Amino acid sequence: MSINTITLDRQGDLPAIFEACARHRVAAVCPWRHQVHQAGLERAAKLLRDAGLNLSGYCRGGMMVADKAHRQSARDDNRRAVEEAVTLGAPSLVLVVGGLPQFSRPGSAPSKDIAAARDMVAEEIAHLLEFALPAKMPLAIEPLHPMHAAERGCINTLRQALDLCDRLDPARDRGLGVAVDVYHCWWDPELATQIARAGAARLMAFHVCDWLVPTTHLLTDRGMMGDGIVDIALIRGWMEAAGYGGHAEVEIFSERWWREPMDKVLETCVERHKRVV
Ligand code: ZN
Repeated sequence: MSINTITLDRQGDLPAIFEACARHRVAAVCPWRHQVHQAGLERAAKLLRDAGLNLSGYCRGGMMVADKAHRQSARDDNRRAVEEAVTLGAPSLVLVVGGLPQFSRPGSAPSKDIAAARDMVAEEIAHLLEFALPAKMPLAIEPLHPMHAAERGCINTLRQALDLCDRLDPARDRGLGVAVDVYHCWWDPELATQIARAGAARLMAFHVCDWLVPTTHLLTDRGMMGDGIVDIALIRGWMEAAGYGGHAEVEIFSERWWREPMDKVLETCVERHKRVV
């Protein structure tokens, strides 16, 4: 089990999160950029080493859709994310690719053209790959649930993400892959077949939480594993059958769980991971 540090974003800063994760014998973490920036990059890298924590990824690069005036700053930002991931020793940089330009890079001229947004994502990932490849930092495209298509990510199915991988990395040797998040993908009728298609080389991360019914907020109402309707163990089985040997990373954006003490959240994650993941 790995803890994505957004799960504890309101309870403490990165040093406090790392200390608690080590104490609860969590094997790995996936830190977020804003938390790393707050703690300081070099200090965060040292804290990770000192705590004996592995990384399951670095969250996140992306938000690549921008108008002309904001495109270069988006590129620069993504290159910095790659460099930070290298410094931290992350196995991959997770990409939340962005939706329409006005939401992906605020200040960009508004557009309703989602096809153009998707074309730009392909161009920008190709561009970033040229930088990430010599830095030896794999890029993991995370397909998002279609409810996020406008604001956060216009790559919405695993098939779409893998088609892009096949286009930009046909020989599977350029370090391009996917992050499979059960919250975004559980509903997809093609999920099992696309996970099998991805195979070990493309499966770079596995994010777990649960889908609550009814869901009351698009972003901050994710459930603790076992509290919703996702058959997480079934999906984990598909991942492992396809050759995935990495962590199950708990990533819960939740107003409910952000109000609980850090130790209680971690205890619950450990218990649920054993029981339902
Ligand atoms: Zn995720």
